[in-house]
Amino acid sequence: MTAVSPVAEAIAGLLTLPVWTLPELQALVHAERRPCWDVDPELFFPPDGDGPAVARQVARARTVCAACPVRAACLAVALAPDAAADAGAGDDPDPALYAPDGVWAGLTADERRAVASHWYALRRLAASEDVPVVADSPVDDMLLAVA
Ligand code: SF4
Repeated sequence: MTAVSPVAEAIAGLLTLPVWTLPELQALVHAERRPCWDVDPELFFPPDGDGPAVARQVARARTVCAACPVRAACLAVALAPDAAADAGAGDDPDPALYAPDGVWAGLTADERRAVASHWYALRRLAASEDVPVVADSPVDDMLLAVA
């Protein structure tokens, strides 16, 4: 069986979110007890490099996030354009600027960048005037619009 990449898995998770605005996403995250509270925060900040020790630390952080009930919302907060803009990213938000280091929602900064390009495209499509508002969630709207 082919393994699903962390990036593909993350995009699939984002598409399950019931809300997309930053305050709503933050409320989702803050409403739950998060597994990262129970581990040393340093686990999520491996040193630079790509040696085996770094890979092991990233893998351990991913394992913690894999059990998190709000993982998709956590990632969406990290990728939120308005949050990135607040952090100084301007009109071309870079999730690595808002969350520049470490593992966030089980993804490295490079993986967050890879997810972000797809996520921002989906958000632009959802906000497009060409997309009729005919359903309850942005994803439903998009799926109906492109059907
Ligand atoms: S997904 Fe986010 S909130 Fe959940 S354990 Fe990982 S870093 Fe913490």
